[in-house]
Formats: sequence, structure tokens, C-alpha cells
Amino acid sequence: MSRFDDELMDRLQAIRAGGLHRQIRQLESAQGTRVRIAGRELLSFASNDYLGLANHPDLKRAAIRAVTEAGAGSGASRLISGSLMPHDALDQAIARFKGAPAALAFSSGYTAAIGTICALCDSSDVIVLDKLVHASIVDAARLSGAKLRVFAHNDLEKLQTILRWASGAGSARLSDSGQGDPRPARARNVLIVTESIFSMDGDRAPLREIVALKESFGAWLMVDEAHATGVIGNGGRGLADELGVGAGIEIQMGTLGKAVGSSGGYISGSRALIDFLINRARSFIFSTASVPAAAAAAVAGLGLIGAAEGDMLRGLLRERIAQFTGGVPGSVSVPLPAGAILPISIGPEDEAVRVSDALRERGILVPAIRYPSVPRGRARLRLTLSAAHTAEDVEQVLEALSAVRAWQV
Ligand SMILES: *Cc1c(COP(=O)(O)O)cnc(C)c1O
Repeated sequence: MSRFDDELMDRLQAIRAGGLHRQIRQLESAQGTRVRIAGRELLSFASNDYLGLANHPDLKRAAIRAVTEAGAGSGASRLISGSLMPHDALDQAIARFKGAPAALAFSSGYTAAIGTICALCDSSDVIVLDKLVHASIVDAARLSGAKLRVFAHNDLEKLQTILRWASGAGSARLSDSGQGDPRPARARNVLIVTESIFSMDGDRAPLREIVALKESFGAWLMVDEAHATGVIGNGGRGLADELGVGAGIEIQMGTLGKAVGSSGGYISGSRALIDFLINRARSFIFSTASVPAAAAAAVAGLGLIGAAEGDMLRGLLRERIAQFTGGVPGSVSVPLPAGAILPISIGPEDEAVRVSDALRERGILVPAIRYPSVPRGRARLRLTLSAAHTAEDVEQVLEALSAVRAWQV
């Protein structure tokens, strides 16, 4: 074997030794609450398909029609020659859904974050992140070259301290709180980025307070609504809409791959923002447009989410969430979920994997989430509910949870 592969095998061995090795699990079925893996049907609580739209007949029909009318592939970046009718329809559908002046679809949420943050910020700017923001935002902030500061999860005081420092007012306390450089930053612009519903903890950001802070310091705000879109707020428009603070948020981001039931990502905001991104977001400019089928399915998904069927599905989802949180074994710590993500805290990586394996033995798929998705030693089960789960499904996972672990530690 080559020295290259030898070195990688050594690195993989270290990953295994740390209980952090990952493997792709092949589904032998469609996405849904029942999936087949290795010839066995499992009841799945692993997907982010919160409304069960990934397998909805309307989305499938829309995708098939798009293939027939616009082709299987997109052929080029949208700026070169790849902007097909489903892509323009999708930009418009997102803007309408978000109640924003304009929107732009990207090939994923990840590339939306990378393209947008790197277009907006460089080394003259400061980016301020909630400690728990998604990897796509962390990677984007690093890649942008901006000065980075991180505030403890949802900690408004820490955020304010950083904003004061970034505005040039300075604060020696900054170094005491482990935030580094005590000198005032005098940034050109300050961009705060947070999520609305956090992907691994399932809680929500204090958006109203963050908007008030960012306005008093003249900062910009970007909110990632990946796990709120379709699930939270009037017509599933997200947390910013529910709290009525959308106008105070310069940049809203989301994915089309979770509740929307397709794949892709988006940015919504002012016409100027979207025109700027079309000119400067490298992950938009230098990447082939998503396939017409994905764009058309996303348009259909957004349509359902905003219609009466979306309200009905959100109602079902809320019932399942209440059933689950009302029925978990007494000592299981499940914080009151803001959306459909129910993290069950375990701690040690190997124990989280053991519990996940034991559930799987009982025919239930609940992934163990480990570093680097969450901090070391804070491994957990991440259970997600969907409107497509039945009351019996929830009953079954509750029974299995009680059986696989003595939760009364
Ligand atoms: C999933 C996710 C993304 C990335 O979206 P994709 O479309 O899957 O690339 C971004 N932010 C958060 C919070 C996410 O959970």
C-alpha cells in the first residue's frame, strides 16, 4: 500500500480509537418513517423531513414534470446558460414564501452560507457567531478572512460585550472572558450570525433581543432558519416571521432539503442583497445550477407548506412532539423543543453509540450524534419527529427508550 494510504489508515485508526468513526448507511428504500437498511425495516427518527414531504406525491410529480420539460441536468452555472424555468420559479417562490423582496436559490444550504458570508465580509470586518451555529457558517466565517468572535450559546451579555469591542469602544473584560484581543476592533462592518432553531440542541435563539442589540450597535444580522422553515411560524415561514422581526434581519438563510422535502439552499432579503450575491457569491457563480427536478420539487414543497395542508401537517407534528415530551422516561432530559428536534443527552461517545445500537436492535433508528457535530463528551441521541409519524410510532420509540437504558442514573 502507498505511504499516502498508510498515513490515512493511521488517521482512521485514531478516529476509531476515539469512538468517532462514521460509516455511510445505505438505505434500500425511499426516505420516510420506515426505511430498509441491510434487509431490515427500521422505524426512523433520523431524518429532517419534518413534514413528510420528501416522498409526497405532489413533489414527485413536480420533479418528474421538470425532468420531462427542462431535462435531467442543468448544463451550466445559472449565469452561463443554466438558469432554467424551474430555477427562476424557485427564486420567486422562496421570496413569496418568506415575504421578502427577493431570494436566490443555491445548490445547498452549505454553499448558500459559504457564498454569502464570503461575499459580504473580508479581513476589515468582524463576524460574531453563536457558539452552536452550523458547520457551514463556521467554515464560511473562517474562509472569509474576517476577525471571528464567538459568544456562548444564546448569551446576550457576551454578545453585547463583543459588539461593544467591535464598535471600537473596547473592553478589557473581553480578554477575561476568553474572547482574546482586548483592543477595540474598529471593524468596517460587524455581521452577527445565528440560527433560529438550533440543529443539534433543538432550542431557539432570542431573535427579538438579538435584533434590538444589533440595531443599537449598527451591526448586520444573518439568521439561518434551516430547522424552522416549514415547521415554525405562520404558514411555516420561520421564527423571524413568527416574532415579527423579519424586517430587522438583513440576511435570512435556509435549506430546501429539510421540511421543504427537496434539496438546495436559499438566501432571502432585499433586492440589493440578492443582486450583490448574483455578482459576488462564488458558490453561486462557479457552480452548476441544481437539477430542474430539485428546483421544481422545492417549489411544490413550499407551496404545500404555505397552504392548508401545511397547517394540517404542522398540527400533526405538534401532537407527536407533545406526545413524546409527555411520555419520555422521567429522568431523560429533553428540553422543551422549539421545533421537531429532540436531543437526548448521553455524554460519553461510546455510551451514545451503545444506546443507538440497542435501539436499532429493536428496529428503531435514532442516530448517535458525536464530535465534531457536538462538543467532545457531549454525545447525544438526536431524535427528530415528523408529521408522517403515527401515534403508535411515538409509543414504540418511548417503550424502546425505557427498555434500552436505565435512565434513572
Ligand atoms: C442542514 C443545515 C445546513 C446546510 O443545509 P444543506 O442544504 O443540507 O446543505 C445549514 N444550516 C443548518 C443549521 C443546517 O442544519
